[in-house]
Amino acid sequence: MTSSKSTKVRKKDDNTTDSIPDLFDDAIKRLDEAFEYANIHPEALERLKHPKRTIQVSVPVRMDDGTLRVFEGYRVQHDDTRGPGKGGLRYHPQVNLSEVKALAFWMTCKTAVVGLPFGGAKGGVIVNPKELSHLELERLSRGFIKEIADFIGPEVDVPAPDVYTNSMIMGWMMDEYSDIVRRRTPAIITGKPIPLGGSLGRADATGRGAYYCLKELEHKRHWKPQDIRVAVQGFGNAGQHVARLLHADGYKIVAVSDSSGGIYKETGLDVPSVIYAKEQTRQVKAVYCDGAICEMVEAKNITNEELLELDVDVLIPAALENQITTDNVKNVVAPVIVEVANGPTTSDADKALVNKDTLVIPDILANAGGVTVSYFEWVQNKAGYYWGVDEVNHKLQEIMAREFHAIYEVMDEHDIDMRTAAYAHALNRIGQAIESQGTSSYFSNND
Ligand code: NAD
Repeated sequence: MTSSKSTKVRKKDDNTTDSIPDLFDDAIKRLDEAFEYANIHPEALERLKHPKRTIQVSVPVRMDDGTLRVFEGYRVQHDDTRGPGKGGLRYHPQVNLSEVKALAFWMTCKTAVVGLPFGGAKGGVIVNPKELSHLELERLSRGFIKEIADFIGPEVDVPAPDVYTNSMIMGWMMDEYSDIVRRRTPAIITGKPIPLGGSLGRADATGRGAYYCLKELEHKRHWKPQDIRVAVQGFGNAGQHVARLLHADGYKIVAVSDSSGGIYKETGLDVPSVIYAKEQTRQVKAVYCDGAICEMVEAKNITNEELLELDVDVLIPAALENQITTDNVKNVVAPVIVEVANGPTTSDADKALVNKDTLVIPDILANAGGVTVSYFEWVQNKAGYYWGVDEVNHKLQEIMAREFHAIYEVMDEHDIDMRTAAYAHALNRIGQAIESQGTSSYFSNND
């Protein structure tokens, strides 16, 4: 089950195969690259290469037809030096331990990038939730929490939603945990429904955080939104909101896609209509809606692969990891990439992007809006005092803009790419915390 240094060949959704490196091994390569630009002791770096705790569980679920199915699940707590573990729970048939370890590692870096008092964790269950009834999904979610309840807590590790999990699932999990510990514990999980202690502004926080990053870039590059063509891969929670906010500012969203493929319209899509149609039919369709009446508009159907290779000004991968690989990077021509998904670019493909001067706003910054508002939710739960949506959005904007510029400065100072700068920025914060407990230079000097 442990990660190997090997390269795996994984079957993709479209039944093709592709050489994809082991995700955790590939993820921690970034640490070595950033090390020389960070002021951090090698011991602290070494610590980050090993997740603190890995929990593997099996969850028995009684299905609606009376049969029993057993689902495998994981929770990886990568690091808690700067605070309780924090990170989402993913339901997906391709969940595997290496992926969850990589995602937990990215959470450690992400919470440090935006300066939150959290470490990093992540969880996942191997399941295709689309095949389960609502009752089966509830039993699985409650069952998973029962299995990991001893290892999580508001001061220990705080889960949240991720791919194919949502606020209702978070609500069931909070309820189950509260039953187990015999007290209402809203701060055990974030991304909950608002009436159960969720935060206003959490639903669109990931897309909004990416949007705030792009607004800072817009100012730096003196962009006029109407001239900027954007393609968004993945039209779920994160992808829809970033597309909606950019569209409202006048950006031209020329393409969007989901797991079943995408649509392209050179003059730009009417994003609110596409969102409405997706909510109604669960498909991305090129439509224009007036109220509940939608008309099809002319557009081209494209594949996810084609979307990544479109001649656009900004490409936003917002689906899954390993989308930009050595196989397709030479055809990726967008000069700016905003990584709303976690790990959409392999490290070798990333080098190719750096070589052709593509500006990549890396995942650990670009999608940190979600965990930032999760942090606000946790603070509000612990205080029992709730904020308005404007306050949430304002605080989020301040943090995203502040950290965007801090990372941009590191990038300019060392003449490095933005991802390496973001890791160096995170390493400095994590390193300070680890080193403040002593390193070999302190312990081997007894004077
Ligand atoms: P989601 O489940 O709401 O949406 C995922 C979307 O990706 C869906 O539209 C799905 O159809 C599409 N998709 C799945 N497989 C695809 C494929 N092979 N090609 C193209 N599209 C595909 O998930 P989400 O919460 O929007 O998460 C998307 C990404 O953003 C993930 O990488 C996740 O880790 C990351 N992220 C999410 C949050 C959050 O708060 N939701 C926070 C940080 C990072």
